[in-house]
Amino acid sequence: MSARNSTQETPSTTRTAGDAGWHVSRYNIAAQVPGTKMTAIANLFKGNCAEYTPIECYLLSVLEELDENHPIIERFAKRGIICKFDEQAALETMGRAACAGSHGIGLTICPTMGCNFDCPYCFEDHFAGKMSADVQDDVVALAGRMLDAAGGSNISVTWFGGEPLLAPGIIESLSNRLMALAEERGGKYVAGIITNGYLLTQDVVDMLERCQVKSAQVTIDGLGATHDATRHLAGGGPTFERIVNNLRTLKLPFKVHVRHNVHEGNRHEVDELNEFINELAKGSGNEIHYYPAPVTGSETADERGKQVGLLCDSDASEIGVRQEAGRFSTGRGHYCGANSIWVVGIDERGNLQKCWEAVDKPQISFGTAHDWDPSDPFATASNPDNLTMYLNTANPVPDDECRECVWLPSCVGGCPHKRLFSGRQCIAFKDDPESYVLALHARIGENKDDAAQKDDAAQKD
Ligand code: SF4
Ligand code: SF4
Repeated sequence: MSARNSTQETPSTTRTAGDAGWHVSRYNIAAQVPGTKMTAIANLFKGNCAEYTPIECYLLSVLEELDENHPIIERFAKRGIICKFDEQAALETMGRAACAGSHGIGLTICPTMGCNFDCPYCFEDHFAGKMSADVQDDVVALAGRMLDAAGGSNISVTWFGGEPLLAPGIIESLSNRLMALAEERGGKYVAGIITNGYLLTQDVVDMLERCQVKSAQVTIDGLGATHDATRHLAGGGPTFERIVNNLRTLKLPFKVHVRHNVHEGNRHEVDELNEFINELAKGSGNEIHYYPAPVTGSETADERGKQVGLLCDSDASEIGVRQEAGRFSTGRGHYCGANSIWVVGIDERGNLQKCWEAVDKPQISFGTAHDWDPSDPFATASNPDNLTMYLNTANPVPDDECRECVWLPSCVGGCPHKRLFSGRQCIAFKDDPESYVLALHARIGENKDDAAQKDDAAQKD
C-alpha cells in the first residue's frame, strides 16, 4: 500500500448494500437494445428509463452483496432501479393522499351536453340543453365551498360537453367569475378545453385566451374521408377540412393536443396522420401535438360501436405502447381525478359526477352543485355511494393481482370507471414489457445521464 493510501480514511462500515437496506426495485422492466450489448431498464416508480452495460447489469444482479459505498449504488438509486424503502407501501400512501388537503380544485364543466357531431364511438347520450343562470351560480358557490374545504386557492377548469363551444357565452361568463374567485383568494386559475375544433374562429380563440385556456384537445381520426367517416356532423356532413383549416389559419395562443381515436377503420393512418399533424404545426406556427388513443368499449360506445370496429388485442397493444411511452412519468397512487374528492364533473343541469364517462348519467351522480359541500361530503351528497365507490378505487391494493403487478405505479389498477362497471382493465401491453421499454428507450435516448436529468426535472414539475 502506498504512503498516500495508508493515510486515507478507512470506511467506517463494512456493511453490504443488502445489510444497509438496498434492494432492486420491484418496478423495473427491461429489454435488450437490438444490435447492441446494452440493456434498457425502465423504472416505473421513478419514471426513468436508461441503458446499462453488461457490467452494470451484473452489478445490479449482485447488488445486495456489494459494499454499501460502491459508487454504482448512487447512480442506480438516482434512476430508481434500486431503493431502500417499500415502494408498494409508498404507492398505497400516494393513493390515500388523493383525498388529502389540496392547493386547489379541479372542475370539469359541461356548459351543454349538446353536440354538433354524432360520432359512433362517443360514450355520451346528447341532450341539447344549456346550463341555466341558476346552475352557473351553483357552480361558482360550489367552487368556493370546495376551496374552503380543501384549504386551497387554485382552480383548474376543463371545459367539456357535449361540444362546449356551442355555449361560448357560458364559458366566458363562468370563466370570469371563477378567475375572480381564484384571484380573491390569491390563487392561480388555469383552464383547458376538449373540443371537436369545428367551431373555432379567431373571435372564439381570443375569448378562450381571455379565459386563461392554456390547452385544447381536438380529435382528428384520420386523413380526409377517413376522419369524416366517423367524425361527421349530426345529420351528416364532413368536418375534416374545416377543423384542419382552423388549426392552420387561426393564431392559437394555447397548445393543441390532437387525439387520434384509433379503431379498426383508421389504424392504417397512424403514421401518416402523425406526420400530417407535425407538418401542420410547422406550417401554422401553432403548438400542435399528435397522440394516438385506442378506442375501447363503453356502454354507449358498445351499442353505437357496431359502426366502428374496435381494435383487436394486438393492435390495441401496439397503439397503447405508443400512447403510454409518450406520457411516461413518475409512478402515481391514483389513476385520475375520479379518485380525488377535490375533482368533480358538473353537467349542464348541475349534477356532480366523478368521471367524464358519467357526465350524462344522472343515475351515477353523487350530488348536485347546489347542495354538495365537501366539508360534509356524505351528508350533503344525494348518493354518497356514487362518490365513495370512485374514491376507493385509488391504488387498488386490495386487488391481489394489482398488488403484485409490476405495472402498478403506471397503471394504478386502470380506469376506475371501467373497473367499477366492466371489471379490471389491464393495460393492453401487460404481457409485452419489452416493447414498452424499447419505445421508452427510443423516446428518451441513449444517454443515461441525460435521461436521469430529464427524470429529475420531470419530478420537480
Ligand atoms: S374514471 Fe376512467 S373514464 Fe372516468 S375520468 Fe377517470 S380515466 Fe376517464
Ligand atoms: S389493472 Fe392489470 S396491469 Fe393494471 S396494475 Fe392491475 S393487474 Fe396490473
